[in-house]
Amino acid sequence: MTTATTLLDAITVRESDGRAIPDAATRETIGYAPVHGLEDLDAAVGAARGAQPAWAALGHQERSRILHRIADDIEARSEELAVILSREQGKPLDGPNARFEIGAAAAWTRNAADTVLEPEVVFENGTSRAEVHYDPLGVVGAIGPWNWPIMISVWQIAPSLRMGNAVVVKPSEYTPLSVLALVEVFNAHLPEGVLSVVVGDREVGAAIAKHPGLDKIMFTGSTATGRKIIESSAQNLARLTLELGGNDAGIVLPGTDVSKIAQDLFWGIFINTGQTCAALKRLYVHDSLYESVVDALSDLASTTPMGPGLEAGNVLGPLQNQKQFEIVSRLVDEARSGGATVVTGGTPAEELGPLFYRPTVVADIADDASLVVEEQFGPVIPVLRFSDIDDAVARANSSTQGLGASVWSDDVDAALDVAARLQAGTVWINQHGALNPHVPFGGTKQSGYGQEFGVAGLKAVAAPKVISR
Ligand code: NAD
Repeated sequence: MTTATTLLDAITVRESDGRAIPDAATRETIGYAPVHGLEDLDAAVGAARGAQPAWAALGHQERSRILHRIADDIEARSEELAVILSREQGKPLDGPNARFEIGAAAAWTRNAADTVLEPEVVFENGTSRAEVHYDPLGVVGAIGPWNWPIMISVWQIAPSLRMGNAVVVKPSEYTPLSVLALVEVFNAHLPEGVLSVVVGDREVGAAIAKHPGLDKIMFTGSTATGRKIIESSAQNLARLTLELGGNDAGIVLPGTDVSKIAQDLFWGIFINTGQTCAALKRLYVHDSLYESVVDALSDLASTTPMGPGLEAGNVLGPLQNQKQFEIVSRLVDEARSGGATVVTGGTPAEELGPLFYRPTVVADIADDASLVVEEQFGPVIPVLRFSDIDDAVARANSSTQGLGASVWSDDVDAALDVAARLQAGTVWINQHGALNPHVPFGGTKQSGYGQEFGVAGLKAVAAPKVISR
C-alpha cells in the first residue's frame, strides 16, 4: 500500500534512483524523476498490448464514463497539478498559464469523452451499401514536448483511450514530473496496463518511433525530430500524427483600431512566455500603423509582470531550459548586430533568475534575419513593415512552416479575404492561438500533418474499416 499523500510524493523516486528535476525559475530541485530505459519501454508496450483488447471491449459508453471521472479528478486535483507544472515548466500559476493549462486538460478530456464518431454510410443505391466503421488501432505511442506538457499529453492520450486504444506516453526529458502527475490521476481510474508512462530520453523516443508493438505515434515537438520519426516509422508502418514547429505570421491591415487589438495581439505573441507552437512569431504591420503597433506592444511588454511562477501576479515566466534560453539570446543578438532596433527588452532579466529573458520587441528588421526565418520559441517578436497587402501575404507565406496565422482588422471581410490566401492549418481573425476542443487543429507544410481534436481527432486514432454488402 502506498503511503504517498501528495501527487509529487507518488511520482518521485529516491535521489539514488532518479534524476534531479529543477524548478525552472529558481533552479532548486523539485524532486527526482525515475529513469526508464529500453526494457521499461518493452514492458510498457507488452502491458499495453495485453490490456488493450479488454479496454476496447468495454465499449464507448463505459470508456466515456471513465474519461468523465478522470476529468472530475483533474479538476479536484487541479491546484496540485498546477503547482507541479508551474515549478517544472516555469509558467506562472496566474494568467493564461498553469491553472489555465489544467483547466484545458480537463476540458479536452471531457471533449474526448463526449465526441461521437458514428459509422458513416458512404454509398447506398438500394442493392448495395458501404459503411466506414472506426476500430481501435491497438497501442498508441505518445511523444510530447516541454512547453504545454500536460495539455498536449491529454490531446494525445484522451482521444486514443476513447477509441479503445492503450497508450504508452513518453514526456519530454525536461518535463517528466508534470506528465507523471497527469498519468497518476488517469491511472486511478484505468485498468492496469492501459496507460503507462516511460520517462526516457531521446534514445527511448527513437525506440518508440520504430517499436514493432506500436500502431500509431502521436508526436508533438520540433520539425527536426518529426523527420526522424517519419524515417523510423518506415520500420513499423505506424500511423503518424505530427504536430511540429511553427513560425506563425500575423498581418495587421490598415484602418485597424490598435487600442482594440493590442491586448489580444500581445497574448497571441507572449502566451507561455512565447514558448507555444502556435504563437504569433512574425508580425507584419501596415506602414500607417507601424509605430502605433510597435509602441503598444512595447508598452505591454515592459509592464507585464514577469517572475517566478508561484508568486501571485506574475504572468510571464522564465525560458524552460538553458538550450532555449541560448536560442532566444542568439536570435536577438543576431538581429541587433544585423541593424534591427531592439525597442524594448533584448537582454536577460538576471535579477529574476538565470533563465529569464525580458519580453522583447524588435523593429526595423530584415526579412532574412534569423529572428524572422527561425522559430524563436521565446518572449521576442520581430515587427516588420509592409505597404502592399499582396506583398505582406507573400512574405507571410514564404516560411517553410505552416501551423497558424492571423489577420487583424476592423473590416472582417477584408480579413477573411486575406485569410483565404494564407498557407496555414488555422488562420485566426483578431486573435491568435485560441483553441477549441471541437475544432480540428493541425499544421500544413513542414509544421506536420494530421489533425487533432473533435471528430477529426478521434478518426486520427482509429482504424477505418469498410463494411460492404
Ligand atoms: P523536440 O523535438 O526536441 O522533443 C520533443 C520530444 O521528442 C521529446 O519528448 C524528445 O525526447 C523526443 N525525441 C527527441 N528525439 C527523438 C527521436 N529521434 N525520436 C523520437 N522522439 C524523440 O521538441 P521540444 O523542444 O520538446 O518542443 C519544442 C518544439 O515543439 C517547437 O518546435 C514547437 O513549435 C513544437 N511544438 C509543436 C506543437 C504543435 O502542436 N504543433 C506544440 C508544442 C510544441
